[in-house]
Amino acid sequence: MNDKKLPLKPPRHLCLLFLFLGMYLTSAQTNKQRPPNFVIIFADDLGYGDLGVYGHPTIKTPNLDKMAHEGQKWTNFYAGASVCTPSRAALLTGRLPVRSGMASNKQRVLFPDSKNGLPADEITLAEQLKKVGYGTACIGKWHLGHKEQYLPTNNGFDYYFGIPYSNDMDATGGKNYKEAAKEGPSAIKIADYNVPLMRNTEIIERPAEQNTITKRYSEEAISYIKKNKDKPFLVYLAHNLPHIPLFASQAFSGKSERGLYGDVVSEIDDGVGKILATLKEEGLADNTIVIFTSDNGPWLPFKTHGGSAGLLRAGKGTTWEGGMREPTIFWSPGKIKPAVITDLGSTMDLFTTFSKLAGIKIPENRIVDGVDLSGPLFEQTKSPRKNMFYYRGTDLYAVRLGDYKAHFITEGAYGQFGEREEHSTPLLYNVNEDPSEQFDIAAEHPEIIEQINTLVAEHQSKLVKGKDMLAERE
Ligand code: MG
Repeated sequence: MNDKKLPLKPPRHLCLLFLFLGMYLTSAQTNKQRPPNFVIIFADDLGYGDLGVYGHPTIKTPNLDKMAHEGQKWTNFYAGASVCTPSRAALLTGRLPVRSGMASNKQRVLFPDSKNGLPADEITLAEQLKKVGYGTACIGKWHLGHKEQYLPTNNGFDYYFGIPYSNDMDATGGKNYKEAAKEGPSAIKIADYNVPLMRNTEIIERPAEQNTITKRYSEEAISYIKKNKDKPFLVYLAHNLPHIPLFASQAFSGKSERGLYGDVVSEIDDGVGKILATLKEEGLADNTIVIFTSDNGPWLPFKTHGGSAGLLRAGKGTTWEGGMREPTIFWSPGKIKPAVITDLGSTMDLFTTFSKLAGIKIPENRIVDGVDLSGPLFEQTKSPRKNMFYYRGTDLYAVRLGDYKAHFITEGAYGQFGEREEHSTPLLYNVNEDPSEQFDIAAEHPEIIEQINTLVAEHQSKLVKGKDMLAERE
């Protein structure tokens, strides 16, 4: 037998100690270096007053309520527009949609026969995050152009699962929705809306099976998170509900005291709970920032099938507070300080805040309207957002500056809340003292109107309106 000497080995327990120490150091280093994951959960036409934690008496949203208590509930947070297409463009580009051409006085949103979509030279949040290697998924309603060059997969998203425009489009001439709604949920037919469901650039189902769509969107988000947990990711989950037509899966149908609308919101809430639970189970919660908000206010003419703006005036389609102020919750346990934030914020700020957190420069060759909300989120300092511009199409209707909001033009929508009216002296409200915009105080505060006029003049002096991308139809 060969009497070869064995090499000297350190004792087994020391090997294990070094192994664990190495693993700990690597993981600590990874956590330190790894930028946060982002999950944006965006409801469609959900009103300011439609969540339990925002005061709804019968819609039960235990998961969103808990998310708000563990995180931050924002009470002065705005969508970038009062209807779907421009609002989504604002969120993803961090810019007022008037700049990108994703707002129009001819068509308020894109339709299945629209020719165009989000211009290729706009930079989306997904494109920003791709620069540093994020995995990016868009799940749900897109509504920024249904032709291939405009789809999420050509706008910075690695993966897309969802419907390319609103769930009430491609109507097949079935029963009028308001009539069907009166008859009850069984009269609302999936086949009346021939909306396609897509995976990446392929149509995989038509009409989209809308009874199960909310559940499937949440499951897709969870599956994406699990598969991509080893690198930073962005999940943009844009539910197409509670925009009408309303549909809920069997587990939620007929359960809410608020009726079908409550069933739909409960199912979205359930998905939020499951997504947050997944982040905790996967050990990702403390390095993930989740935001829940909505694209615009409630679609009020649909009565009980539309939501509620709570104490805010009017709803979707208008530049009253009910059209653009949204229920908004930020969550990141251990990072985001639990609080109710009454400072101003906007969906446009996600572009800037998330880019900065990921260490990516804000583009300098264009005006970006988003501001960095890291201060109020992590440091309990004031929001840098001091104003908000309320556009309808490409016209500036109102401006908020601090506590005050001036309306230069007022107009209702969908046959409610009055005709277009220009105000030579703007209407002025203190929207902190008077969130319902009931008491015009223009006569008492000419100095505030002057300040707002100065802000408007400065804003307009730098404004270049983008080419109208919504007007042309086939
Ligand atoms: Mg909407």
